Amino acid sequence: MVHTKTSLKDKCTFKTGATARFYAEINCVEEIDTLMEEIDCQISETIDEIQYGSKALGFDFPKPKLKYYFLGEGSNTLFHGNIDEVVIKNQIKGIKVFENAFENKPELVLLRVGSGELFEDLLSFCLENGYYGLENLSGVPGTVGAAAVGNIGAYGVEQADCFFGASEYNVKDRKTIYRKKKNKLSISKNHIELPEEILTANLNPEVVFSYRHSNIDGFVLSVDYVFSKTPKPILNYRGLDTLPKDISPKELAEEIIRIRDKKIENYKDFPNAGSFFQNPIVPESTFTILKSKFPDLHGFKLDNQADLSDNEQETLMKLSAAQLIEMVGLKGYRNEKYGISKLHSLIIINYNDATGEELLMFSKVIKNMVNKYFSITLHEEVRLHFETWNLEIDKYQDESNKYQQEVDEIDEINNIEAMLEGKEFVSLKEVLEKEEEYKVQTMKDELEISMYNYAQKKLL
Ligand SMILES: Cc1cc2nc3c(=O)[nH]c(=O)nc-3n(C[C@H](O)[C@H](O)[C@H](O)COP(=O)(O)OP(=O)(O)OC[C@H]3O[C@@H](n4cnc5c(N)ncnc54)[C@H](O)[C@@H]3O)c2cc1C
Repeated sequence: MVHTKTSLKDKCTFKTGATARFYAEINCVEEIDTLMEEIDCQISETIDEIQYGSKALGFDFPKPKLKYYFLGEGSNTLFHGNIDEVVIKNQIKGIKVFENAFENKPELVLLRVGSGELFEDLLSFCLENGYYGLENLSGVPGTVGAAAVGNIGAYGVEQADCFFGASEYNVKDRKTIYRKKKNKLSISKNHIELPEEILTANLNPEVVFSYRHSNIDGFVLSVDYVFSKTPKPILNYRGLDTLPKDISPKELAEEIIRIRDKKIENYKDFPNAGSFFQNPIVPESTFTILKSKFPDLHGFKLDNQADLSDNEQETLMKLSAAQLIEMVGLKGYRNEKYGISKLHSLIIINYNDATGEELLMFSKVIKNMVNKYFSITLHEEVRLHFETWNLEIDKYQDESNKYQQEVDEIDEINNIEAMLEGKEFVSLKEVLEKEEEYKVQTMKDELEISMYNYAQKKLL
């Protein structure tokens, strides 16, 4: 069923108020075609209504730009304002196990996972059944579909390490394709239960991963992972290197959750979306210059091919965005509504009902301060969503914006009076818009001053 004007506040871990014009939920892969038909139907009805209403009020109705937003748990999303994307909340569940899926590899197991499964539930399932490989990602919130799209990573492991392939639905041509990551495994051809698309997927473009990124652009319906039945704990990440080499996967997962709980506030009590910014990747030469100015700066050579971008000639270094923010002096900054975590300077927290706009403004000031200090641009890890048609008719129909109508009426009268009296017409609407701009700018200036003051004290 497609709902209109649905609040997204409880559907994202930032808990910012935002309203989706179209909202639907999908519960199983088989529903996708029917759901898309329903969405088409609802959209054309709504557009007809808007067109009719707009014409009656004398407005243009610009052709809407329609986009789809596939929503998981909203733990990596910042919504704000009215969202004119079609939001499809993913609730596709289910885990299916395929033993002996690969030639001469009885120790490997292939799992087909519904993309709406929580990643945490997938890991619990694996631990219960003795399938290993992604224990280091314990405690990362969100769904399996989003994990693949954003290539989640933590403690030296990325989901790409066990990813085999995914079924993706393309909203443009309304088709599902199966795409694999490059691998050296040979599928057991005589396996009678294996889904056919796994055998025939070789002709489709490969899935490629890099740091917090993949080339998946459709709606992921299910993800196939390959796990091992033999535990191989990965302990070379800082903080894990002191653990016993023979630690069991379950103990490792528990230890990682313990470490994470100490480092990141629980998003249920302190709404946040994990790391707001990505760790910047810079050429080694840039790092050397920075290091000469800031000797404490950490940089880590990228040892993973998947992390390399177009610039593959020079060694690339990953900096810690958290350290940059901390060195600017912003760790722990907060005002009444929002702030930066005291525990982890990459976490922006919505302490008290901040809007998406406020959090966005805050993040921009952080970016500016880091840029001024280090000449490095931080890029958001969180997905920002605020696609809006910005329709005049919405402003009229929204009760809280009734005054707009009155303003237009006053302007109309003033305009006629000005013409009759031969005076210059001053538009109240424009005056109010300028006042609003001024208010926002003042808020931003005040925020900047308060953040600079905080940072200065912190750095003394
Ligand atoms: C406290 C906290 C700690 C975190 N720690 C980590 C961490 O250690 N490592 C890490 O990598 N991340 C971390 N994150 C970020 C977040 O958990 C991951 O990015 C997660 O994968 C987001 O999942 P989601 O279902 O909530 O995605 P959403 O926020 O719902 O969506 C994120 C993006 O994925 C897209 N998407 C979602 N589902 C699908 C689908 N089925 N098909 C296509 N596109 C889809 C959305 O359109 C959006 O662009 C953390 C977040 C929080 C709140």
